[in-house]
Amino acid sequence: MYTEAEKDKFFRRITEFHTKDAPGLEIGVEMVDCALDLLGKVHDKILAVVETSACLVDVVQIMVGCTTGNKYLQALTNLGRFAVTLYDRKDGRGVRVSVDLSKINKEKTPEIHNFFNRKRAIEVETNMELRKASGALIKKEFKTIGRELFRTEKVNVKTFGKPPILPAQVCNKCEESFLAKNKTDEMCEFCTGTAEYYIPIKDS
Ligand SMILES: [Zn+2]
Repeated sequence: MYTEAEKDKFFRRITEFHTKDAPGLEIGVEMVDCALDLLGKVHDKILAVVETSACLVDVVQIMVGCTTGNKYLQALTNLGRFAVTLYDRKDGRGVRVSVDLSKINKEKTPEIHNFFNRKRAIEVETNMELRKASGALIKKEFKTIGRELFRTEKVNVKTFGKPPILPAQVCNKCEESFLAKNKTDEMCEFCTGTAEYYIPIKDS
């Protein structure tokens, strides 16, 4: 368990890395701290699955050192749940921490209630002053409840260990090297259309 001073230090580093303050950051720091406590001793590296593409991803990258670049972090961006699972690479034993909506007291912590139920006033999205005030309120409310907000569970992650290294293939259309999911793949996913994220601009 990290001390308050250590968590504050993480919070400052994460805010800098994230390039902006976000109400979820402090909640995220506590979630990750909680997951680390419950996970305890591991036999291999700690790997992470974050179920959202939001600020929680940056919390994990700074606090646990699991990044998308070192492949210790998997972000399930399409799932969109504010939850994190940390697990042992050796056996997949893990701990999942999520936000328990049923534990949010609407009277005691109204802004947290609105935040997680996506019921904050629409102006919060566009008005920076209101956004800041709402963020400050969420932090203040969170201080009064802390980990009470979370649901924790022990889990076994289905696929663990080192990921297989995919064979490199040369695409027969663009002629660039790419990672082939199947040995029979002859084209990269850009050329098949699956990952075609840009349109080339032709020089005139
Ligand atoms: Zn190609």
